[in-house]
Amino acid sequence: MRLTYNTQILIGTVLGIVTGLVFAFVGTDAPVIKHALHLFGVIAKIFISLLKMILIPLVFTSITVGIANLRAHAQMSSVWRMTLLYYISTTMLAVFLGLTVVNLFQPGVGLQMDMFKDSMTTMTVQHMSPLEFIENFLTNLFMNPVASMAQGQILPTIMFAIFLGIGLVVMGGRAQTTLNVLNEIFELIMLIVQWIMALLPLGLFCLLTGLVATQDVSLFAALGKFILVVVGATLFHGFVTLPVILKTFSDTSLFRYYRGVRQALITAFSTSSSAATLPITYRCLEENLEADKDIAGFVLPLGATINMDGTALYEAIAAIFIANLVGIELNLAQQLIVFTMSILASIGAPGIPSAGMVTMVMVLQSVGLPAEAIAILYPIDRLLDAVRTMINVKGDTIGTLIVDYQTRKQR
Ligand code: ASP
Repeated sequence: MRLTYNTQILIGTVLGIVTGLVFAFVGTDAPVIKHALHLFGVIAKIFISLLKMILIPLVFTSITVGIANLRAHAQMSSVWRMTLLYYISTTMLAVFLGLTVVNLFQPGVGLQMDMFKDSMTTMTVQHMSPLEFIENFLTNLFMNPVASMAQGQILPTIMFAIFLGIGLVVMGGRAQTTLNVLNEIFELIMLIVQWIMALLPLGLFCLLTGLVATQDVSLFAALGKFILVVVGATLFHGFVTLPVILKTFSDTSLFRYYRGVRQALITAFSTSSSAATLPITYRCLEENLEADKDIAGFVLPLGATINMDGTALYEAIAAIFIANLVGIELNLAQQLIVFTMSILASIGAPGIPSAGMVTMVMVLQSVGLPAEAIAILYPIDRLLDAVRTMINVKGDTIGTLIVDYQTRKQR
């Protein structure tokens, strides 16, 4: 009997979680389990390496070809406007929700700071003022394309691809050969993505086993309220706010949507990386939801790097949590700073595991909170990162469907 692809994914997911739970129950120090976890870790790494292998060529060609194929300037500018409007407004909504919920439930109040002192003193963080952060972000936007691609830097690669795409539009017929070649390369890359996706069930099994087995459960009790607030708010944004926006601004039914994107969502959860998930996200939208390939090619890679609702929401909640922990009450003006900084920090965070932790230093510093306090959050970040990455990717997929629908009439 041959199992369908979706059944294979389901088996990989369920088996991964169950095996992880069994491993955690038996104890990860047992030699057999240690070896098994090591082996699964290697397979998971190979799977992620394969995704990363294809990521830069995919981003580069999909953006260039996407822009070039949306030839008419008017079309392109409405796609741009709609994309940025969606990204910024949904991120703002997410942070607003995060701040509301954290002020309502006040996690961290009454917790003893002393229990975290040790981990905080061993933590060294790179300090960066908001201005330095913005400067750094802007100056790193443009790079030698060969260097940025070699280093796997997505944002400068996107920037170069945008220039190239616009150049192809301006040159029109004279650059037809180049455009044809790029179109063919893009098709080739999508074929390779299809091959890599055949390994997804195995990759998910290995990733999830490791994720579940190695959670530090003891900390969960101490930080339980904080975790509940973060996960609750993130899921509310992802499963209530975003679907309402999808229903309101597009014609995609929720049933069709979830059927179409589930592989991307579970991969985002398992890899904690929007960037590594991108090839799969792209295929889900193009194959399963029949989104316009040029729109998806433009909106998705951009979203995977700058649109992170889950991350923005998390940074805001975590900042207030730490303020509560150290006994500082933030007034409205300071909370507004947290609001703005969380948005900036989420835009600046690359789509890789725990990137939000690094940019959070800036949010904390902007209101005078101790940056070292992120040491408290690191041990539980694997779980929270999985949840927020899933919502980050969800935001990108919904954005693509909305931009596709809203600009369809003009195409
Ligand atoms: N892991 C997240 C992502 O890739 C970024 C973060 O750490 O918040 O979307």
